[in-house]
Amino acid sequence: MDEENFPTIEYSDPVITEKTSGYFTGFVISVFIAALFIFLAIITLYMFNLTNNQEILFVGILILSYLIISPFLIKTRKIREIKILGIKTIKELVEKKIFVKSKPRIKRVFVNRNVYVEKKAKKLNIPRFAYVGSTETKHYHRRNCRLGKLIKNKYKEHSNTQSFFKKRGYKHCKMCIKK
Ligand SMILES: [Zn+2]
Repeated sequence: MDEENFPTIEYSDPVITEKTSGYFTGFVISVFIAALFIFLAIITLYMFNLTNNQEILFVGILILSYLIISPFLIKTRKIREIKILGIKTIKELVEKKIFVKSKPRIKRVFVNRNVYVEKKAKKLNIPRFAYVGSTETKHYHRRNCRLGKLIKNKYKEHSNTQSFFKKRGYKHCKMCIKK
């Protein structure tokens, strides 16, 4: 990949995932219905004096009817999710084993790594200095001095302290710095 193209952002094709839900609800309902059937069976067997064969037939009918209705109790639904991810490729310094004459050494190398990014608003961070000096005239001024603003960019030197300029042999501007 070309060095100048960093960082690059590529957006993936939409990723569609399908999820099925509703198993738990179905399970709860099934258990509830089963408990109801068992309760019904116990009441019936307790209240009516049935013969052994009748009891077996009755329980058999209950189990059979439960097996018939249970598949209808579990209702599932499908949910679709669509995702589009932005992938930014950046350079990252990592440690990697390299083999020199079959002896392993640790060396720092650049590898390409993908990270997910969010778009952010631009913010300029320009530092402001209290004083500006001219390397041409060897005078320094306060930031807001009219004469200081006339200094060409190639001759400008900045600092937050006056001592910075004094050490370098600058003289203070008589207009903006009163002694
Ligand atoms: Zn000045």
